[in-house]
Amino acid sequence: MPHVFSRSLPNTFTTDVLVVGSGSAGATAAITAAGEGVRVALVERYGFMGGISTQVLDTFYGFYTPGEPRQKVVGGVPDRVVDALMGHGAALIRPNTYGAGDGITYDPDILKIVWETLARQAGVRLLYHTFVLDALVEDGRVCGVVAANKSGLLALRARVVIDASGDADVAAAAGAPFEGPADGPVQSLTTTFKMVNVDMERALKVTKKDLHALMAEAIASGRYDLPRKEGSIHITPVDGMMATNMTRVGDVDATDAEQLTHAEIEGRRQALAYASFLRDRVPGYEHAAMTGLSHQIGVRESRRIHGEYRLSRADVLAARDFDDAIARCGAPIEEHHAGGDTRWEYLPTGSTYGIPFRCLLPRGVDGLLVAGRCLSADHDAHASVRSMGQCMAMGQAAGVAAGLAVHSGSTPREIDVATLRDRLIGLGAVL
Ligand SMILES: Cc1cc2nc3c(=O)[nH]c(=O)nc-3n(C[C@H](O)[C@H](O)[C@H](O)COP(=O)(O)OP(=O)(O)OC[C@H]3O[C@@H](n4cnc5c(N)ncnc54)[C@H](O)[C@@H]3O)c2cc1C
Repeated sequence: MPHVFSRSLPNTFTTDVLVVGSGSAGATAAITAAGEGVRVALVERYGFMGGISTQVLDTFYGFYTPGEPRQKVVGGVPDRVVDALMGHGAALIRPNTYGAGDGITYDPDILKIVWETLARQAGVRLLYHTFVLDALVEDGRVCGVVAANKSGLLALRARVVIDASGDADVAAAAGAPFEGPADGPVQSLTTTFKMVNVDMERALKVTKKDLHALMAEAIASGRYDLPRKEGSIHITPVDGMMATNMTRVGDVDATDAEQLTHAEIEGRRQALAYASFLRDRVPGYEHAAMTGLSHQIGVRESRRIHGEYRLSRADVLAARDFDDAIARCGAPIEEHHAGGDTRWEYLPTGSTYGIPFRCLLPRGVDGLLVAGRCLSADHDAHASVRSMGQCMAMGQAAGVAAGLAVHSGSTPREIDVATLRDRLIGLGAVL
């Protein structure tokens, strides 16, 4: 994004830590940073928190390693999110049949309430319906952002900014290097939807193998356009409701609004085709109806920053550890490329790798941290590290790091990483 806002803007507010984006990473970053005793504001373009966790999905992966015995590799503030969902009776642990490890499946509408309850209890200042357009940069240091909402243009100033926009919008605007769709393949996009009024007794007898065989038959009949041949469907905490991950729109640059517009339209078109397939051909769905299309098409991958370290495919598959690890991951590489199938590659059973703090530090700019799916990683490493459990864990680390930087009057790059790790362990993080 170009720096077009040269005229002075009303200085709407100044805070210690400004978090851009309220997805799994940004929400956890804001809640954690506020718990560190600094003033925190959170800016979000939609009217609710959660990002993909509430816009598109209903299952946290990454908390547990795949295989037996499972290990829990995420803890601290993310546990409080899960506990609150469980307290509402709105979540269940679901064994994953596709190899990502056990998931925590929840009701996304209750999660919207959980996120904002935790944020408000922590004292986070929330600003919804506000889109961040540009970064304010002085002497190579990010000192805020320019945003827009119905009141006009706003300048939001902060001592530390956490870019949790998923698309690295602030980092890119500040001139930090990144790679994205122009530099190589990125994963395909998915519109999710739900089916209600499902006859659960009969639907649950349909195995993954049965479903894929029925899909193959439907495609062969020539009556259905189903691009993904391995789409999945799973139970939810609501009786008679099943959730899908079936559609696939490939080769899209999600930072290009025109391409994203076409993807939204294509995603919904495909959703209708998959819903027809389910109703016509899958036992238990004869009287089911499609509902709950994702608020927007789900974007798995767009910009990935170039940070002080770039997590690599080799690091993932070798289960490498790092002195500055701020979170852990045991999830396989799960790559949804354009085409009918999905590529899975596993770590050695039961092993995990560390996520270095340096992956959250964009090269060449100060005052800025990133957290979540825009971290510094190559395409394959990203396909492992992007689960919401890890995004929350990265957010937690960014929140503590921002708090340390504010308290010590330094930049995130200058904080003492041993102190960061100690504080994370104190919060319950698994390192
Ligand atoms: C289809 C799909 C299926 C997936 N399946 C799973 C799964 O089952 N389980 C799992 O654990 N992971 C899954 N993943 C991966 C995971 O959901 C994401 O990697 C993770 O949610 C990313 O979190 P985030 O906080 O980094 O970004 P996001 O969740 O993308 O959050 C970014 C936030 O920033 C806001 N924002 C963006 N730009 C701006 C701006 N300029 N100004 C203001 N606000 C802005 C957005 O509205 C959003 O709230 C899936 C992803 C997709 C797309």
